[in-house]
Amino acid sequence: MSNFKKILKLFSRTNFAAKKPARQLRWRLIGVVLIALLPSFLLVLVVLYNLRNDLISNSERSVYQIANQISSHQVNLEKSTSQLMVALSQVPSIQYTQPEACDDQLHSIVMKIPFYLNLAIANSSGIVLCSGVPLNGSLNVSQDQFFESALSSPKAPLNGFNIYPQLTIDPIVRSEAIIFGQKISFINGSPGVIFASLNLDYMSNLVHSLKLPPNSFAGIVSPTGVLLYDGLHPNSALVGGQMFPGSIFNSKSISASGGIFSVSGDDGTNRIYAAAPFGGPNAQIIGYAVVGVAHSQVDMIPNHDIKLTIIGISIAALIAILGAILIGSRAFKKIQQRAVQDELTGLFNRAYGLELAEREFKRFQRLGDPLSVMIMDLDFFKRINDTYGHQVGDIVLTSVANAIKEGCRAVDIVVRHGGEEFLVVLPNADRLDATEVGERIRLKVASSHIKTKRDIKINMTVSIGLAEAHRGMDSLDKLIAKADEALYRAKDNGRNQVILADWPV
Ligand code: GH3
Ligand code: MG
Ligand code: MG
Repeated sequence: MSNFKKILKLFSRTNFAAKKPARQLRWRLIGVVLIALLPSFLLVLVVLYNLRNDLISNSERSVYQIANQISSHQVNLEKSTSQLMVALSQVPSIQYTQPEACDDQLHSIVMKIPFYLNLAIANSSGIVLCSGVPLNGSLNVSQDQFFESALSSPKAPLNGFNIYPQLTIDPIVRSEAIIFGQKISFINGSPGVIFASLNLDYMSNLVHSLKLPPNSFAGIVSPTGVLLYDGLHPNSALVGGQMFPGSIFNSKSISASGGIFSVSGDDGTNRIYAAAPFGGPNAQIIGYAVVGVAHSQVDMIPNHDIKLTIIGISIAALIAILGAILIGSRAFKKIQQRAVQDELTGLFNRAYGLELAEREFKRFQRLGDPLSVMIMDLDFFKRINDTYGHQVGDIVLTSVANAIKEGCRAVDIVVRHGGEEFLVVLPNADRLDATEVGERIRLKVASSHIKTKRDIKINMTVSIGLAEAHRGMDSLDKLIAKADEALYRAKDNGRNQVILADWPV
């Protein structure tokens, strides 16, 4: 039988009348173990809770760092674009508006720097004067936001940063781009706008190089929450409008949240988002680089750790509880045995034996089935103690007890009634049956040579008084008293014999 089954057996033990106390003991033990474990449980939970928060805020910080990386990339790009455009505005072919030379100049730059889709120049009316990518006919950009903003702004300082980006469809190349516009002056003093359109693939490449976990988001969002660019899905035509998920996206709520917030995306994925702003002229925020990582990814490691720890603690607690039950049940079993058993001989003790005898007497009174009892006492036992000592006496006593038990029937109740005196209750036995058992015991004891440690062989005899219950008896005591009388007669008659008490005719 496996240990576990043994434990379960102890758990469902139904010994004697002690079922209820056993159950109470079990619950008490479980309670004690749980109370003892409670402080460590709580401590572990607090530690786990802090650990989880740390791990999550670390992840949040990493997401923010990625957003920041994209944002600084954007800022650098703006700066270098601005510088490029300021430098170009000083080129003679541009200042003197010589269209063909200007076209060539811009074309060679577009060819050299791959993340520019195009570079072009418009006069103050919005008419495009020259372009790196050849024009088909004439084109007016006066309605474009980048043009209006740039033209109405002061001219950028030489090393300045004063450009006006707009995410739109490039009017010349006809594909999605961020267009930067900057005001310039021609040599004749009239103003104009030079503009560069930025290939969005550069952003896509950057985002992919970050190796974000699956189900992430990276893109550009306007300060009013319009999703301008989705770096992981660059071909989804977003220009013109889809709102960033979660209505709370605006400069105010972003700065209030410290740039980190949680929201469910349009695809139903709940993500931790980090938004890092990037600016235009006069520290104005013109967009946010936004990175979102799925909560399931961020929480995966801490949740896994916590699950393992909780399973570990639960197993420890279970083992502690089962251990306590096992130890407790063994202790309880011992206590139970002590309550019913005589320690030296293993027979029933007097108190419990009399309780059982009382039950049999009540059954006799109720049903009238025959019932007999025997009282037996060792002959000259004192001599054994006096001759060989108490220890040898104990061995002899135990051997005789065993012989008595062997001589009895399985249903008989064998009790150590006093020092070297035994009571046997024989249910369903009349005086004849009982005499037979008594004789068997007497002979068994008399014929056995008891071996002790010192190799001394001792012969013992026993005297037995026997009585059968009859209708005139109203108590067990009277029945035992009758057997006792018979025992005295047996002693008087010379011992080593069975004497039957009188039976009323
Ligand atoms: P009889 O009954 O035949 O008249 O003689 P006896 O010598 O057996 O009678 P008695 O009642 O005088 O002596 C009983 C002795 O049993 C006295 C006591 O020391 C001894 N005794 C009682 N209980 C124990 C026990 O547990 N161990 C040992 N070794 N001796 C015991
Ligand atoms: Mg005695
Ligand atoms: Mg005796």
